Amino acid sequence: MTTTLHGVALVTGGSRGIGAEIARTLAAHGADVAVTYRSNKEQAEEVADQVRALGRRAVTVEADAADAEAVTAAVDRVVRELGPVRILVNNAGYADMTCPPLAEVPLATLDRTLDINVRGAFLTAQAVARSMPDGGRIVNIGSCLATQVPAPGFTPYAMSKAAVHGLTVGLARDLGERAITVNQVAPGSIDTDMNPADGPSADFQRGLNVFGRYGRAEEIASAVLYLASDEASFVTGTTLTVDGGANA
Ligand code: NDP
Repeated sequence: MTTTLHGVALVTGGSRGIGAEIARTLAAHGADVAVTYRSNKEQAEEVADQVRALGRRAVTVEADAADAEAVTAAVDRVVRELGPVRILVNNAGYADMTCPPLAEVPLATLDRTLDINVRGAFLTAQAVARSMPDGGRIVNIGSCLATQVPAPGFTPYAMSKAAVHGLTVGLARDLGERAITVNQVAPGSIDTDMNPADGPSADFQRGLNVFGRYGRAEEIASAVLYLASDEASFVTGTTLTVDGGANA
């Protein structure tokens, strides 16, 4: 089956890691792509150049997902420059990988985790939905930690990703009458800057899944591609877990 996409895709946090791979994959299947980033303009521009090399249009927008005004302004700019967003991928995410003991979790860490992973995703979806055409797609990037936490130190992140599940099922109901589907992909350990396969807890994480390895960003992008495709038109409010069986 060859998947062909059409229209404009917005990938938040598309300058690196999973988001950059999603941006390239959606472009390779026919979407014009906008990526947001927080600080890595150069890497975002590289991703945009890769999208253009595939013959698609691209825009990069600096927008901290924790900044409500920046999020709304970014969506407005994407719609102005590329047209209404048909595929939204809420990917921008934050995790404090130092995993401090519960008593030492700073309030600022808790707020930042929730602001980026939950509030920013809600506000982006709300802004995009205003002009999203019927039949559009929203894919939220959650985490397998939303349902099972294999070690201490992850409570703020796990609760933020559990909220992404609520966001997904709630939006599926909000937008269903417009034939817009809303789903989430829940990755396990994926080799990126956030969670490198040579990081301090990498061996522990490899031991959690059935394959004994880290996943690749492409393995998340292909799941997003399916949910963004016409073939997934009767799939909404659900989770596609891509964790190598870590939660099995
Ligand atoms: P990376 O840290 O490698 O990349 C994060 C991306 O998000 C970058 O493009 C970064 O932009 C952007 N970003 C970070 N903070 C903000 C912000 N405040 N506003 C806008 N953009 C921001 O992360 P991953 O690729 O690993 O993670 C992508 C998603 O996948 C996240 O939602 C994460 O929680 C989720 N996930 C990842 C797993 C993993 O093992 N890697 C496992 C489960 C879920 P910039 O380059 O400008 O900093």
